[in-house]
Amino acid sequence: MIQFDLHVHTLFSLCGIHTVLELLERAKELGMKGFAVTDHGYTLGGRLNNPFFERFRSPCPEVKILKGIECNVLDNNGKIDVPRSFIDFIDIVLLGLHPNTSTGQGKDIYTDMLIAAMRKNPCVDIITHPNDPHYPVDYRRLVREAKIHGVALELNNSKIMYARTEVQSAVELIEACRDEGCFMAVNSDTHAIHELGDDGSVRPILASVGFPEEMIVNHDEASALRFIDSRRKNKS
Ligand SMILES: [Zn+2]
Ligand SMILES: [Zn+2]
Repeated sequence: MIQFDLHVHTLFSLCGIHTVLELLERAKELGMKGFAVTDHGYTLGGRLNNPFFERFRSPCPEVKILKGIECNVLDNNGKIDVPRSFIDFIDIVLLGLHPNTSTGQGKDIYTDMLIAAMRKNPCVDIITHPNDPHYPVDYRRLVREAKIHGVALELNNSKIMYARTEVQSAVELIEACRDEGCFMAVNSDTHAIHELGDDGSVRPILASVGFPEEMIVNHDEASALRFIDSRRKNKS
């Protein structure tokens, strides 16, 4: 199980179905230490709102909640839909390629898009699901650039669990991170509640490749919070 899950959707995303409090209750049952609420940016219809970012506090002291967003790439020049008005309240910024970007443009273009976005937006902490077959990327090139910026690449449990990508794509991604010494984040990408904290589909793949545990930014609560704190300076 993931102690501190850094990629979780609530019903503030159009594709989400649970409230923050339902997820919190589930995390408590599981004995998780915390999770990041990372709903989609406006481009995918995310209903991000002031009270959550400015006023919400976890009512459950044993489960920490981080406030985040999963942003979208808007163009080839590094523009993303991070809501600048909430930036002071945001703990973590994820970035991924999603259906607002057209498919079929080829590996080089998608790699360039993500690299431009990392260069232009130091607030980005994690690139989500880089092994999505709809948006193929050059892992080696992406990993080298991510390492320069201290960005972690995500190993996404849902994509493997629901067979939305090949196991081999995860193997290649992990190998590239291992060889280049780039951080990874192991996340559930929860939409449905039973997915919270689940890393059961990717753990055997990590073990087969031999990825060092200490290079997983959220391998435990302390490492997750250290990673977040180390990047807070990029959020202003
Ligand atoms: Zn995503
Ligand atoms: Zn997501």
